[in-house]
Amino acid sequence: MRFEISKVLDAIEGRVCTDPSLARAVVDLAEVIRYQDIDGGRPASLLRLGMVIDALSRELEEDSVQVYAVVHRALLSDADLTSNERMVVRRWADDGLVEVLDNPGDRMLEVADLLGLPVLSRVRFDGLRGRFPWLVEQPGRVLAPVPGAGGPAFIAHVGGGHSPVAGKRSPTGAKLLARQWRCPESGCALFGSGGGGGAFADLAGGADRSPAGQPPPALRNGVPTCPRHGVRLGDAGPRPRTEVLAVRVGGLVRRRFVLSEEQPVVAGRAPEQEGGIMLGQWLNDEARRWISRGHVRFELRVGEVIVTDVSTNGSGIRPAGSMAEADRIALAPQQSRVLGENDMVELYPGVQIGRAEELPTGAPFTPTSVMAEAPTMAMRLPRP
Ligand SMILES: [Zn+2]
Repeated sequence: MRFEISKVLDAIEGRVCTDPSLARAVVDLAEVIRYQDIDGGRPASLLRLGMVIDALSRELEEDSVQVYAVVHRALLSDADLTSNERMVVRRWADDGLVEVLDNPGDRMLEVADLLGLPVLSRVRFDGLRGRFPWLVEQPGRVLAPVPGAGGPAFIAHVGGGHSPVAGKRSPTGAKLLARQWRCPESGCALFGSGGGGGAFADLAGGADRSPAGQPPPALRNGVPTCPRHGVRLGDAGPRPRTEVLAVRVGGLVRRRFVLSEEQPVVAGRAPEQEGGIMLGQWLNDEARRWISRGHVRFELRVGEVIVTDVSTNGSGIRPAGSMAEADRIALAPQQSRVLGENDMVELYPGVQIGRAEELPTGAPFTPTSVMAEAPTMAMRLPRP
């Protein structure tokens, strides 16, 4: 039993991040773990975070969605959690996967404002409507997770809808996220020196995170501040440019990843490169045979996404996402091409990678639950 729960917590760990390009909603962890009515279980349970993430996945019709969790420091010693759960949250804090704060205050709304993200919370925030007008102006920006038939469901505080609505990054957010920041406190998990490393392309950010994946600074009297340490952050120069790409297999967006100009990313059946995007777990036997371990390489150069086929069998480009066979452009092994705004690269029929905002989920599906212990699944792909 203990082992199974550990596996579920590991799966949930893959869904928390403070990367501004990957997070899809903001949550207050101390609040979410106490939604006792969702499962009628213990007063506090970390598994409820997984249930809320699953609900978000269902609403967005996308797999592997990640959330930005703000955590009150008291949670690290909360006696209502199991010792295992407390240990897990501490690890997330040490790795910078969540923000642990002495006094979260309105940090959750600040993050949502800077990044343009929806907020999943039962709190009404009436007193903050002046500072954050989108609380009322954009129905769907704040949704309460409530008990539903197949797990939690969402109800918008304004308008009563159930779909999370993303806004735009605020002008301040865009400005802050154009720079990289440095915290003077040694070992700061959020704004540490880090540098180098390719771990940013992986789901786990960790201590050697890239500056491209740094969270948004807090603003105190207009000064960029470390939300954890409350000290002024140093400006460490321009932040590397990024593009968010998405993998779609069998019509379902399986995961997103960040391509930064700092480092190329290889996608394939089982890439050997650090930060590689592994697709093998979503492929059927035929697709596995066709797709090389490392199949395509992506690079971001002067704002352009360059895709290079590094496979044995080659790939194709679907210009402007067209699924018409006549439009498909072959990409032979070792050939490169600039990926146009709406283009997708197709590694095998039904296995596509393109810019995340241009690659909607195109088929009805059930997202892989973060609560399942072994999320392996062989997809049946449409035949060419
Ligand atoms: Zn700090």
